[in-house]
Amino acid sequence: MNRSGIRARGAASRTIFPPRRNPKGRWLVAALIAGALLCAGGLGLLSTATDRPVAADRTDSEAWQLVLVNATHPLPEDHLVETVELDGGESVDARIEEPLSELFRAAEQAGYHPFVRSGYRTRAEQERVLAERIAYYEDQGLGEQAAQQEASRWVAQPGTSEHELGLAVDINDEDGDEELYAWLDVHAHEYGFIKRYPEDASQITGISHEPWHYRYVGTEAARDIYLGDLTLEEYLGAV
Ligand SMILES: [Zn+2]
Repeated sequence: MNRSGIRARGAASRTIFPPRRNPKGRWLVAALIAGALLCAGGLGLLSTATDRPVAADRTDSEAWQLVLVNATHPLPEDHLVETVELDGGESVDARIEEPLSELFRAAEQAGYHPFVRSGYRTRAEQERVLAERIAYYEDQGLGEQAAQQEASRWVAQPGTSEHELGLAVDINDEDGDEELYAWLDVHAHEYGFIKRYPEDASQITGISHEPWHYRYVGTEAARDIYLGDLTLEEYLGAV
């Protein structure tokens, strides 16, 4: 009962709940064959595309956590993900529920109050997030094209967002404590997460510095990426 859960935006209180696994086993896919495919393909599903660079010494069972998604590496059309709904409504790939819980538990012990502001997004949700950001900049007085350009510095085009992969989370502090970002920067790798869009790396990642956006890659890769001060693109040799 002391197990730390993951709170998502809108949580009514700071009471800690374990994430809810959807009782109907929600599969966020259109095809009825999803279950059969997953049973048959297991973890290898995300690594079937031959043009996806994966560190050579990785086994197939680890490949799912090293899938590269960026502007030049869109998600496969048939991308499948089994999600777990977190308290408050956001979801993540079920496979990162436990490491994310552990990360949050450690952050709480350090005095922070992390929550998932944004987790898994469907393609349609990513389209909505991008449209909202463009509208925001237009409201700020930018023309249509300039608003689109500015938005694309922060929000990936639909089909190229790690949020659609289910392995990325935007983490905020309930009290708005931005020191949480500094703590995450140093400790997230211990739980298998990397700061995916570091400072001064937008030429490589295509996305501006986002201290809140963390991506699960597994503890081994996360440690190497952290110690080597690398981006995922560099780690995978995809630059
Ligand atoms: Zn994000």
